[in-house]
Amino acid sequence: KRAKKQGPGSVLTLDNAAFEDYNRYNTITHSFQRALQNNEFYLMLQPQFNASNEVIGSEALIRWEHPELGMVSPVEFIPVAEESDTIIDIGNWVINEACRLLHECEQLGKHTRIAVNISGRHIVRADFAETITQLIEKWGLAPDTLMLEITETTLVSSIDLVRERMEKLGELGFSFSIDDFGTGYSSLSYLKELPISELKIDRYFVDEINFHDDEVPIVNSIIDLAHALGVSSVAEGIENEFQRKYLRQRGCEYFQGYFYSRPLPEKAWRDFIMNSSLSKIDLD
Ligand code: C2E
Ligand code: MG
Ligand code: MG
Ligand code: MG
Repeated sequence: KRAKKQGPGSVLTLDNAAFEDYNRYNTITHSFQRALQNNEFYLMLQPQFNASNEVIGSEALIRWEHPELGMVSPVEFIPVAEESDTIIDIGNWVINEACRLLHECEQLGKHTRIAVNISGRHIVRADFAETITQLIEKWGLAPDTLMLEITETTLVSSIDLVRERMEKLGELGFSFSIDDFGTGYSSLSYLKELPISELKIDRYFVDEINFHDDEVPIVNSIIDLAHALGVSSVAEGIENEFQRKYLRQRGCEYFQGYFYSRPLPEKAWRDFIMNSSLSKIDLD
């Protein structure tokens, strides 16, 4: 981006680019509270499937339509929000929205599950368990309608505190999915003790599955490790039939990616979830 702006007077334009970045960062930092108040955030839901192509749940992915900046990716703004307690407000907003959607489905007679991404800074808070319990109770839901996704990096960063929180939440009936698995360095002995239901194979590794290679050792190892721990493996970022077949043959249980379904806006998601004949997508 910066290189393109170079040319005559490039020293000056380089400074301008840095200034623009700084401005954008500041704009983002200062827009969070207004964004929460003005409903600038919304959720997209990406369905997840089992080996029989039935929907087993969905992942909630936050989106931000900023009035001046347009769409801002969570890859850009979540790390900024994580620099302060703003991530707590955003995280609670996401959980409440997920509960609202689940409540609507329950009222229409459909029991389903939503996975929410929880930041490290959020889960280590002393009041997290109380807050999330209050939210599900407010919407008349059971803890097993939510799946809590924490990244492997979060798990590793402050393991003792995170473990304490996870154990408490596990006792309350919440389940955990370890996101972006394979990118951190979690200790195998810890993994065994934690209330984990699934390991989520990072998209980066799924991407390595292609018809040029016979075997993809890291993917194989994560699936085997999940099974050794007695938990399920979930693959994210499946974009083609080849990847799907490979993963299925290797014993991966759950599947998520553009090949199955893009993340859907609320209404399209509800239609998809409610229509059981569509919920089982038509793949061999
Ligand atoms: P993640 O939790 O690992 O989410 C998966 C990302 O992969 C999502 O990107 C999703 O849209 C994308 N994806 C799904 N299927 C495919 C595929 O087949 N191909 C490719 N190339 N991509 C696929 P997204 O929505 O941009 O989110 C990026 C990251 O931002 C998430 O990674 C998560 O770490 C974070 N994030 C998103 N929503 C939230 C949230 O509500 N709270 C927190 N704390 N983090 C969030
Ligand atoms: Mg995730
Ligand atoms: Mg992930
Ligand atoms: Mg990821």
